[in-house]
Amino acid sequence: MQIEFLGTGGAMAIPRPLCQCAVCVEARKKGIPYSRSGPSVFVHGPNVLIDTPEDSYMQLNRSRISTIDGVFYSHWHPDHVMGRRVLESVNADWVNHPPEGTTTDVYLPEQVAIDFQTRLGSGEHLAFFDQQKYIALHKLNDGEKVTINGVSITPFRLSEDYVYAFLFEGEGKRILIAPDELYGWEPEELGELDVAVLPTGICEFHPLTGERQISEDHPVLKEEATFRQTLAIIEKLQVKEVYLTHLEEPDQLSYDDLKKVEETLPHDKNILFAYDTLTINL
Ligand SMILES: [Zn+2]
Ligand SMILES: [Zn+2]
Repeated sequence: MQIEFLGTGGAMAIPRPLCQCAVCVEARKKGIPYSRSGPSVFVHGPNVLIDTPEDSYMQLNRSRISTIDGVFYSHWHPDHVMGRRVLESVNADWVNHPPEGTTTDVYLPEQVAIDFQTRLGSGEHLAFFDQQKYIALHKLNDGEKVTINGVSITPFRLSEDYVYAFLFEGEGKRILIAPDELYGWEPEELGELDVAVLPTGICEFHPLTGERQISEDHPVLKEEATFRQTLAIIEKLQVKEVYLTHLEEPDQLSYDDLKKVEETLPHDKNILFAYDTLTINL
């Protein structure tokens, strides 16, 4: 398997339109690895795409992906779904009648399917694609796994139970991909993992200076895991390598800052910050 980071930004990708802060100006000038598009990951082998942020069109064109054998959605939040129309661009045939287009299998974990019915029009939009045969929509019950190209993919709920992480098992490897929302999560027995892909969490304290950046009583601290909480979760995982993603512009960390942060992290596990287009071979 190979993990390709299509987008490593968070809900506020980098550069943020119109923003003149130093992080955004540098990202606009230098591009990758300083710029970060919306959160999405592709796993080569099973050929699975996780989430479709607004940047999906650009990300797929930039990648060397030629086939998508399954799309999984992690949760209903806009930064993870708003590029879903890419599924029409990939599959629709507007020339022939009857159309000779292709169909992508799209998998919705139980709660995601429920939330899509009332959030952001995602349920209606995907039902339309299904009817047009651009996609084949599959709803998964909790505990159900899907096997694609010999790799089994098991979605499971995190503590914020509207959001799912995914366990990929195959080719002798085990990979955990949690696109977002680790708040309150106590990793259950996941066994030994080769790689974990996790959201960085928000920086309540600046990871280099230790200075408080988010006030103690800010409600976001009751919804979002912090970077320190993420590190505590990593400590509990039996994992060789961790790639942190979903980096938010408001945290104001440049690629160079993150390289420095990497040096301060515990060395018993290899903990690295992902960047757009990074590909890991397993
Ligand atoms: Zn997100
Ligand atoms: Zn900015």
